[in-house]
Amino acid sequence: MRSDTYDIAVIGGGPAGTAAAIRAARAGLRVVVFEKGKHGRDKVCGDGLTPRAVGALHDLDIDLDDAHLIQGLRMIAGRTTRELDWPTTDRFPDHGAVWPRRRLDTALMDAAANAGAEMVYETEALPVLTGNRVTGVAAGGRTVSAGLTIVAAGAQGAVAKMLGATRVADEPFGLAIRTYAETPRHADAHLEACLSLRDASGTAVPGYGWMFPAGDGTVNIGCGALSTMKGFKKLNLNTLLDTYRAQVQDDWELGPNLERARAWRLPMSAQRRHGEGWVAIGDAAGLVNPMNGEGIDYGLESGMLAVDLFVEDPATAPQRYDELVGERFDAFLRTGRRFSFLIGHPLILKTGLALSVSTDAIARITLAVMGNLIDNTTPGAAGKVMWMADKTLALADPLLRRTRAAA
Ligand SMILES: Cc1cc2nc3c(=O)[nH]c(=O)nc-3n(C[C@H](O)[C@H](O)[C@H](O)COP(=O)(O)OP(=O)(O)OC[C@H]3O[C@@H](n4cnc5c(N)ncnc54)[C@H](O)[C@@H]3O)c2cc1C
Repeated sequence: MRSDTYDIAVIGGGPAGTAAAIRAARAGLRVVVFEKGKHGRDKVCGDGLTPRAVGALHDLDIDLDDAHLIQGLRMIAGRTTRELDWPTTDRFPDHGAVWPRRRLDTALMDAAANAGAEMVYETEALPVLTGNRVTGVAAGGRTVSAGLTIVAAGAQGAVAKMLGATRVADEPFGLAIRTYAETPRHADAHLEACLSLRDASGTAVPGYGWMFPAGDGTVNIGCGALSTMKGFKKLNLNTLLDTYRAQVQDDWELGPNLERARAWRLPMSAQRRHGEGWVAIGDAAGLVNPMNGEGIDYGLESGMLAVDLFVEDPATAPQRYDELVGERFDAFLRTGRRFSFLIGHPLILKTGLALSVSTDAIARITLAVMGNLIDNTTPGAAGKVMWMADKTLALADPLLRRTRAAA
């Protein structure tokens, strides 16, 4: 068995793992990435990038020429439709994008390789534990030692089980499904989100249906649901997608599905995201926004953060990563999880939906939430609403959990 020593070993070559690898290689570190898929593998996703995610790609110097740029969001709740452009802020770019994952992830993998990271494809990796410490990874007949092992393996599986980093049983998660279809509206400049999603029996589903135009002749069509709804275990995502597709078919003049619709999990919690010698980033750390299902931005940001802290001080990096990623995201994501318990109740969901796009001013707040343009520190109306929601939902948390709608 060959043995090698690296500064950083990464398990998983999605947006989180490649962002970490790009950052590490550009800082002059020796970094290896193990990806179990092929170079150019696909990932089940809506392919939507918020302005915040575009900002993170800018931080990585990724050229977005191959992506379809998006000016804003069209929100549909019942019979009301509101189309708004992303606001101009000094924090994020004024545009988002749709970039099919096969191409986005390939661009990121290639950027990592060009920066000097060693990319190893079609190779599954597992952490090597010496006592409680992760000392590297075992992959494809190799044992690799690393100062830091970065777990970027996506929705928690075998690696998470080994490290006790599986999702928290009591916390919500999401499931979503998507396919592609041809449409004459492929170059639309707005994402479309149908907030009033219903299952085949007409019950309101906490989640949304999306039409994300890819600018390449196709649209990514999909829908997602939160585990807090009653009957979630019995929810048939294929039927949900078919029902939604029938609703948008004529407006979008959709052609047949270009591939079999595929579903995957959206992890929204993790029991741990660091330990001696390792950190978890992106989906592996449960960093998905319950308000909009976004995870790419969190993957990119957490990947860069983990490496920056390792560069500053390898000894303290895992602990400091846990603290700083928490400071950046935990309060907002916790509010989102509490909110998901609330909208798991059909009546609250129905009332909330009617309100969400009822006036232009309120729709702007919904846009800020759906577009990931706010957190608890954002100034202005949307930031105040978020701050208030955080405080109120914190008080209501025990009640929300006791009365959760899930069956
Ligand atoms: C249907 C759906 C729609 C979504 N839509 C959006 C959206 O529009 N916008 C958005 O921002 N987010 C969206 N998300 C969430 C988004 O897809 C994820 O948050 C994002 O992919 C997380 O990136 P990641 O790098 O952490 O994990 P992943 O992209 O899952 O990458 C993990 C990689 O690790 C590899 N891997 C796993 N285990 C091992 C192992 N042991 N050894 C080697 N390699 C391994 C996998 O092959 C994979 O390539 C959606 C999710 C779903 C399911």
